[in-house]
Amino acid sequence: VRIEILTIGNELLNGDLADTNTARLGGWLRRQGLPVAGGRTVPDDVAVIAEALAAAARVADLVLVSGGLGPTEDDLTMAAAARFAGVGLVEDGPTRSRLEERFRARGYPFTPNNARQALAPAGAEVLDNPVGTAPCVRLTHGATTFFFFPGVPHELERLVADHLAPWIAQHAGARPYHSVLLKTFGRTESQVATLLSALPLATNLHVAYRAHFPEIHVGFHVQDPDAAAARGLLDDVSRAARDALGPIVFAHDAAGTFAGAVAERLGRAGATLAVAESCTGGLASAMCTALPGASSWFVEGLVAYANEAKARHLGVPTELIAAAGAVSEPVARAMAEGVRARSGATFGVAITGVAGPTGASPDKPVGTVHFALAGPGGTSHLHRRLPFDRERNRVVSAYLALDMVRRGAPDAPNAISALNAESA
Ligand code: ATP
Ligand code: MG
Repeated sequence: VRIEILTIGNELLNGDLADTNTARLGGWLRRQGLPVAGGRTVPDDVAVIAEALAAAARVADLVLVSGGLGPTEDDLTMAAAARFAGVGLVEDGPTRSRLEERFRARGYPFTPNNARQALAPAGAEVLDNPVGTAPCVRLTHGATTFFFFPGVPHELERLVADHLAPWIAQHAGARPYHSVLLKTFGRTESQVATLLSALPLATNLHVAYRAHFPEIHVGFHVQDPDAAAARGLLDDVSRAARDALGPIVFAHDAAGTFAGAVAERLGRAGATLAVAESCTGGLASAMCTALPGASSWFVEGLVAYANEAKARHLGVPTELIAAAGAVSEPVARAMAEGVRARSGATFGVAITGVAGPTGASPDKPVGTVHFALAGPGGTSHLHRRLPFDRERNRVVSAYLALDMVRRGAPDAPNAISALNAESA
C-alpha cells in the first residue's frame, strides 16, 4: 500500500505548534513495516484541504488525515472531505446519540456546534472515539481509503490502535519490522559511525544514527517475515557493535536511560550516591531522581553555588578556594569527599565549572569543568574544557559526572575529549 499523511491546521504552519502527529503516524507505520510515501501540511481552508485530499487520492491507497474535526468554525475537514467526494454532509445518528449521552453524563449543555461533530460525508463510516468528542471517520473514494483523526495526539493514538490497526492487518499484510537500539555517550555521531564502519552488515539490515544531545543512538532495523532469522541477525550485529563501541554504550533498548545505567551499576555493587553540584545547579541530581526507585541508591544532591556554600555545606576549606579558585581540581576533590563524608553515601561525585558565557578568566575559559569521584578506593579527578553554550555545557557536565560513576574508572571519560575537537 502506498501511504500518505496529511495534517491540517494553521497553527502547524505559523510556528505555534510542531507537527508531531506526522511523526507519531510515521513511527507507528514503521513499526508495522510500512513506509510512508509522502506527507503534507495544509492550513484550515476548505478549498485547500479538498485539493490536498484530491491530490493524495491520485497517488495513495491509504491517506491518514489529522486535525480539524472539532466543533468550532475553524474545524473544516469534514466539509472539505464532502466537497472532495462530491457528496453532502449527513448526520450520523449513533454518533449524535453518543455525543448527547456523554454531554448529559458530564452535565454539560449540548450546543449546536457540538452537533457538528456528528456530521460526516455521505457514505463515510463514523468510528467511535472513546477518549474524545471528535469521531474517527473512514471514507473510501475510488481505490483510496481515508482515515480522518482528531488532532489531539492522545486521541489520535487511541484511534490508530482501535480503528487503523485492524484495517492495516486486513488490507496491508504484515511485514514485521525488528529493531535494536544502542544508546551511547562520550563520542560524536561521526566517531560512533567510524567505530562501526567495519561492522559486517547484511543487505536487509539498516543502520540509523540519531543525536539526542548529548547521547548518540544507533538503531539497527531488519525487515524479515521470519522473526527468528531477524532476531538472530540483530543479536549478532548488536553484539559486534557493542564490542566495537565499548563502554560508551550505556543502554541497549529504547527504554534504557543514562541514569538507569548509573543506577544499575550502583545497584550491582550495593552502593549509594551523593552529588555535589555547582555549575550544573542540580541537573545531575534531577537526572538521578527522575528514575523511579531512586531512593534505594540516591542519598542526596546538594547545589553549592557560592564559595561560602561550598565551605558551609561540604566543608571545603575557604583557604583552598581562595588559593586554587572555586573551579579547580582541589576544590572538586574536596567537594566530592565532603559530600561523601557528610551523606554517608558509598560514592560522592562533584561538579564545579564555568558554564559561560560569563565568569571566565584567562586561565579558566568558558567550558572549564572539574569533576571528582570519591569512593572507598580513593578519589579520582577529571578536567574538561567543553565547547558548547551554557545550556549544553551544563547538560554534558551532568552526564560526565554521572559517567564517572557509571564507568567506575577514573580515566574512563577521557573519550569525551574527542567531543571537544569535533564540536568546537
Ligand atoms: P478537537 O475536537 O479536539 O478540537 P480536532 O480534530 O479539531 O480535535 P484540532 O483542532 O486540529 O483537532 O487540534 C486539536 C489540538 O490537537 C490542537 O490544539 C493541538 O494541540 C493538537 N494538534 C493538532 N494537530 C496536531 C499535530 N499535527 N501535531 C501535534 N498536535 C496537534
Ligand atoms: Mg479543533
